[in-house]
Amino acid sequence: RIVVFGSTNMDLVAYARRAPARGETVAGHAFRTIPGGKGANQAVAAARAGGEVALVGAVGSDDFGYRLRDTLEHCSVDTDLLRTVEGPSGTAHIVVDDEGGNSIVVVPGANGTVTSLSHGDEALITGADLLLLQLELPLSAVVDAAAHARRHGVRTVLTPAPAQPLPPELFDATDLLVPNEHEAAVLTGRVDPHAAALALLDVVPEVVVTLGAAGCLYAARGADLLAVPAPRVRAVDTTAAGDTFVGALAVALGEGRPVPDALAWASAAAALSVRREGASTSMPYRAEIEAALGT
Ligand code: ADP
Repeated sequence: RIVVFGSTNMDLVAYARRAPARGETVAGHAFRTIPGGKGANQAVAAARAGGEVALVGAVGSDDFGYRLRDTLEHCSVDTDLLRTVEGPSGTAHIVVDDEGGNSIVVVPGANGTVTSLSHGDEALITGADLLLLQLELPLSAVVDAAAHARRHGVRTVLTPAPAQPLPPELFDATDLLVPNEHEAAVLTGRVDPHAAALALLDVVPEVVVTLGAAGCLYAARGADLLAVPAPRVRAVDTTAAGDTFVGALAVALGEGRPVPDALAWASAAAALSVRREGASTSMPYRAEIEAALGT
């Protein structure tokens, strides 16, 4: 079983020719509300890839909260320990311009109330095979969850996003770190992903740096760097490619597959997701990943 300790957000997306400058109003041509948040996205990706998944976090007492929970349940994610707290759900206010660029304001809302673990949360984590973490919940709680998992021999997989410097306690409790190129640079001060991956081995035992269309790099202590190319696809929407990658990777690792196989599986899943619009709606099901790999 995979437990995700992470965020749920409703993405409120306005599409406009260009984003407004300060004090300016521009006309948009479309609007969508899309369930998201890195925690929820990774949970849905793992569930679609065939994992048994539970999400620990919080939604608000507003309409968005109902919809976020409902979406997760429809995707077979266990939400028994997803709390509903008084007040607004997490929201991301996004403007996408006609060149595909975006500007985003994230308001944590209910996510910001997850400052500690309940006994129930701890018991769920103790019984898991893997714990997936990101940085959209309060950092102290992320550290507590990772440390709890580590104490009970549960493998921890951390996506260090949004990019920020991390406390040593969090590195100490991380088994596998999965930054993208930008996050790896922020954590290490090294722009070259090879150098960044090797530098990160000083603080965690295993690292995967994702490189967008260029695939990913895997580094482990005492082993050679492994570069895994991404399947060539026509990219339509790369939103949540990284979350799809991590969710699928967790399923493969949870099934005890060797790392090179697990990375090929995760790359196939992420490539499928960028061929379609949307975040969670673009994530592939297990049969689609198997078909793409010819297995
Ligand atoms: P993030 O979405 O977190 O910024 P990346 O852009 O590095 O992360 O993408 C994560 C993974 O998704 C990559 O390692 C790759 O496997 C896959 N991916 C992303 N963009 C593409 C693309 N254009 N073509 C194929 N695979 C892609």
